[in-house]
Parts: sequence; C-alpha cells; structure tokens
Amino acid sequence: MEEVFDYLRKIFKPYSNLPIFNELPKEGIPKQEILELLSKILNEENYKWEKGFVSGAVYHGGKDHIDFLNNVYAISSQVNPLHPDIWPSVLKIEREIIEIVSKILHGNEAVSGSVTSGGTESILLAMKAYRDWARKVKGIYEPEIILPTSAHVAFDKAANYFNIKIKYVNLNENFEAKIEEIKEAINKNTIAIVASAPCFPFGTIDPIEEISEIALDKNIPFHVDACLGGFILPWAKKLGYKVGKFDFELEGVTSISVDLHKYGYSPKGCSLILYRNPEFWKYQFYINTKWSGGIYFSTTLAGSRAGALMIAAWATLLYLGENGYLKCTKQILEVADYIKSELTKIQDLKILGNPLWIIAVTSERFNIYEIVENMTKLGWNLNVLMDPPAFHIAITLRHDLIVAKKFIEDLKLAISESGKAKAEGLAPIYGMMASLPKEDSDEIVSYLIQWLYKDP
Ligand SMILES: *Cc1c(COP(=O)(O)O)cnc(C)c1O
Repeated sequence: MEEVFDYLRKIFKPYSNLPIFNELPKEGIPKQEILELLSKILNEENYKWEKGFVSGAVYHGGKDHIDFLNNVYAISSQVNPLHPDIWPSVLKIEREIIEIVSKILHGNEAVSGSVTSGGTESILLAMKAYRDWARKVKGIYEPEIILPTSAHVAFDKAANYFNIKIKYVNLNENFEAKIEEIKEAINKNTIAIVASAPCFPFGTIDPIEEISEIALDKNIPFHVDACLGGFILPWAKKLGYKVGKFDFELEGVTSISVDLHKYGYSPKGCSLILYRNPEFWKYQFYINTKWSGGIYFSTTLAGSRAGALMIAAWATLLYLGENGYLKCTKQILEVADYIKSELTKIQDLKILGNPLWIIAVTSERFNIYEIVENMTKLGWNLNVLMDPPAFHIAITLRHDLIVAKKFIEDLKLAISESGKAKAEGLAPIYGMMASLPKEDSDEIVSYLIQWLYKDP
C-alpha cells in the first residue's frame, strides 16, 4: 500500500509549492492576486489536453470556442432556471434546446425532456421516471432493468439509488449486447431495456434496431444512451459512414440521453434527457403542493440550476449549426480512421469490436496496463478498461493527424519498453484490485477516496 500511495501522491497531490488556504482569510485577498495564482496552477494543468495527450475529457477546446462560451457565461452567470418567473427567457431557451436536438434525433413535436447537469443525471432521471411509470401504469413493485455489461455505470448507480434490480446481458464477439440474452431476461417486472450508441468502454453500438422491435412487441420502455453518440452519429451518417438507426426513428425507442458537454461542445455540466412523449417525462418531476415554503416543483434532480450553462449550450448549438458539427465530426472520424488502420499494423495488439471513434485496444501477448503506464510516462492520459484488460482512446477535436502520428509512435515505443523493468504504477494496482473480492476492493477504494479528498 505504501508504494501505491507514493505513486498516487505524485499524480493527485503535486501542489507542494502552492500556498495553503485552510481557513477564511481575515481580510480578503486582492482579486488580481487570486487570478494570477489560478492562472499559474491551471496553465500547468491545461497543457495536457490542449496538446491532445488526453482521451476524451475536453471535446472541443479551441481557443475561439472557449472565448465565446466565456463571454456567454459572463452575461448570464446569475440566471437560475428554478425561478422562471424572474427569467422566463430560460424556459424558452430550454424548450428550444430540446426541440433542436429532438429534430436531430428524428423526434416529432411530442418529444419532451429536460436539460440536466450531465449524462449521469439524464440516466438517473430516465430510470426514476420508468420506475414510477411502471408502478403507476403496470403495477410493478419489484422493478428490473435489462442492462448490457458495457452500459455506463450511471445505470448501476441509478439502480442503487432507486432500488431497481439489474438483469445483466453479456456481449457478443463484436462487443455488442447479445439479443438472445435480452429476450431471456424479460419478465413481468421489467421496467426498461437499455442499450448504448455507442458504449463508453469499447465505442461499440448495441443492436438497437433489433432491441427496438423486441421492446415494441413486449410494450417495454427502451432507453438508448447516446451520451457519446448523439452529436456524432447523425453527422457520421451524413458524411457517408455506415451507421444503423439508433434514435426516435425507431418506434421502440422511448428515451435518449445525449451529452451536450461531450460532442455537443458545450461547457461542462450540460446534458439532455429526451422522451418520445410527455407520458414518461412527467414521472421525472418532483411536485409538492403542501410545503410551508409554497408550491414547489423541480423537473430534474437539482433545485437551483446553472442557467448560464444551459444558455451557453444553446449558444453553442446556434453558433456551430449543422455545418459546424459536420466539420468537427469529419475531423474526428478521419483521425480515428487513421489510428485504427495504424493499430491493425502493430503485431499483437487488437482493436475490440468495430468502433467508429472510441477505440479500445487489448493484447494477448503484452501486459496492457504496463503499456498504459509507459504511455503515461510519455505524457498520455488514456482510459483504462477492466474486462477485458484494455485501454481506449476517445478521439476529440484536440486530436489532429499530427497528434495521431505521435500517438502511434509513442505506442510503439511503449510496447518496446514493456517487460524490461519491474512493472510499477498502474499494472500492479490493477493486478491487486482484480485479485480481491468485490467487498474488499470497494473498501480499499473508499479508503482511497477519503485520502484523496481529505488528506492534504
Ligand atoms: C459520459 C457518459 C455517461 C455519463 O455522463 P457524465 O456526463 O459523466 O455524467 C453516460 N453514458 C455514456 C455512454 C457516457 O460516455
């Protein structure tokens, strides 16, 4: 454990030469001084994503883009959608975001939904709405969802928060949900089926057309998690890439989560939950007509919400327009195509499934975690996957062909260096975690979290 902490300390607590503020200063510090300190800290941390060394995380990151978002934020930072009587314009703005994105995803005028703080909140809300809808309409009191193992962990979180049981579905050799297992998992307690377009770990898309047929036939709500794909797949299709139907075009699809703060290029803290019709949407609301504070309602998990983020998301959609998104998507998919074709030339590496732009790589010969660790030493920040052991890179606008070439060169270097020295860092940590029972590894992570947030 000591070795683990030494390793983690270097990554997470590198601020030995920064001033410490552990109590409120008696006299306020001059604003200029605070701005300078912040710039110094963040400039050091930002170069990594700015230079394209990071998988996902910052999806646009262009300077003009950020400047524009900052200007929008500057004039709307006080807006709170909880008070539509003070800011009625924000009702219009939220409605317009829903309408714009609904049309991109083949929705009609019945489509309803909300702007949320992120994909997790969109997913939590959909699962809560389906639980409450199923209780009221179908009399289901022991709710279950059907979930491919590749679905985002936010669905597990929702099940945990809202007392829903999960029926897991395994993946086929293409890393897509097995249709047969979905059929077998359906029973009288099923409140929803979930699929991803694409899934986070492997970037692969589940057989959504087939699942839609099943869902329609059995009259079961069907949620498509397009947090990643909602703002790539529609444009990829227009650019001539082979993309199956995945959205409201399919009659069985009853809801879609889409992250504005990923490939929608909005500031962090913005996602959408869309329902085919308000019949589902209304089960996500919280309403209290008897509170001593007056009649209260909220449409999402939060009370007060960051209106400025919603407004910035709206401004992003308007200024980029369809052509802006097409251009961004074209770059991302071209870079992904280059990386995939170069990866297939590297012996003993394998791409998992047939992804478009989120590319997961494994190896039967090398210790993949050691390769990731070597890539980390070369400055890269990749996503580590557990089952199977692999990593992925999610291509963003920060990756152009020059960065892609460097990625491939560095990867070859990382492979040639693996197995030479005693593995350190990631590889032994993942090795240890994999060898422990779930309760023990959860306990260790809980301990690490407390260290991470509390220990200076
Ligand atoms: C990112 C992501 C989510 C969760 O989104 P957050 O914004 O991190 O809460 C859900 N599903 C998929 C497929 C994702 O990639």
